[in-house]
Amino acid sequence: MSKVRTRFAPSPTGRMHVGNLRTALYAYLIAKHEGGDFILRIEDTDQERYVEGAVDIIYRTLEATGLVHDEGPDKDKGVGPYVQSERQEAGIYLKYAKELIDKGEAYYCFCDKERLDTLVQEVAGKEISIYDKHCLSLSKEEVEEKLKAGVPYVIRQNNPRTGTTTFHDDIYGNITVDNAELDDMILIKSDGYPTYNFANVVDDHLMGITHVVRGNEYLSSSPKYNRLYEAFGWDVPEYIHCPLITDMEHKKLSKRSGHSSYEDLIEQGFLNEAVVNFVALLGWSPLGNEEIYSLEELVKIFDYHHINKAPAAFDIVKLKWMNGEY
Ligand code: GLU
Ligand code: ZN
Repeated sequence: MSKVRTRFAPSPTGRMHVGNLRTALYAYLIAKHEGGDFILRIEDTDQERYVEGAVDIIYRTLEATGLVHDEGPDKDKGVGPYVQSERQEAGIYLKYAKELIDKGEAYYCFCDKERLDTLVQEVAGKEISIYDKHCLSLSKEEVEEKLKAGVPYVIRQNNPRTGTTTFHDDIYGNITVDNAELDDMILIKSDGYPTYNFANVVDDHLMGITHVVRGNEYLSSSPKYNRLYEAFGWDVPEYIHCPLITDMEHKKLSKRSGHSSYEDLIEQGFLNEAVVNFVALLGWSPLGNEEIYSLEELVKIFDYHHINKAPAAFDIVKLKWMNGEY
């Protein structure tokens, strides 16, 4: 088996929520448990969601929790993380999108907002819009002409509309979706930046990631990632989607609900080790008695096959106990 390589791929959108910290911790533990590599990749291609200073928060939190990453693009500067906006400037994503166009697996789309708005339908009270492949019928010459004239464009994935796509997750098992629901998702946006979905897949492949760990909010879009791997002819990594984190009322603990980022908890007086242990147990249970483990001990005992499907509740009482308060 090849060396285990995991990554933490945060988007710099604010403070580091416990869900993000859990993803980082599990990815770190999976890699280190097998003597593998843990990679840090900053996913900052969404200009609208970018929050100034959020990258520093990520660095500070990883440093404070001891989740040290292993490699980066610039050996001279030590092990800096990979940064997608820098990779975008180097033209990496556009190059791969064009490879898909050449294979007939992607195409330029010049539709303006007005036209796209006409495709929005209401289904069961929800607005959905499945692209009608209008621009797929443009000839090569027509495309060249529009590009030359500077007409704004996006690049879309050319997904089939019939049949099904199956995706495997190590925790949730096989997930099959009807291809009619897949849509031709955008790979490159009109500002030239890749979408999260596209850059994520390209980088996971280029960085040799063997196990992708992330929150289960990505589970439903994952079949689209499989279609991309298939289109490129790449091996699909193992996927490990972590269970939802809820509050004590069983409602989703949202990023906005506040007081649940790493810094919030430290500011409230919780010790780093208590927080790390608490986060480790959000959806994973070691066999035997619960006690407080050091990061090294967690590395030794962590087994991702024992991650739960059931939602994990953010129980402040438990965190207080781990903090030595009872
Ligand atoms: N950039 C994504 C996020 O921060 C990461 C998802 C993933 O790990 O694939 O939510
Ligand atoms: Zn179009």
